[in-house]
Amino acid sequence: MSVDEKTAVRMSPRGLGTDSSPGCFICEAPGGIMSNFAAFVGSRMEGEEAVQLIERGVRLDYRDREPNWIQIKVGACKLHVARLEILCLLLRSNVLSKHLLDLVRGEL
Ligand SMILES: [Zn+2]
Repeated sequence: MSVDEKTAVRMSPRGLGTDSSPGCFICEAPGGIMSNFAAFVGSRMEGEEAVQLIERGVRLDYRDREPNWIQIKVGACKLHVARLEILCLLLRSNVLSKHLLDLVRGEL
């Protein structure tokens, strides 16, 4: 399957943090130090596919000396932190929580 045909990538996100990001994954906010989450992917190819899928506010963190620890990093501006957290929580588990529900409903 070529990268263009790929529509889903399996990943294991870590928690929300703060890091250098190329921008916000929702809007056109410029990059810098902002809220983000890192997610482990299975291969460099999968990381590149995830970056292509997300399109903006995302970068691949691949290090030649750590070829088995490949991550993508997704950023969000202050306005879109709740959406970043929703994405992170949805990717992390199949568990519904009041916190996730409140986030999705825009009540946080
Ligand atoms: Zn934004």
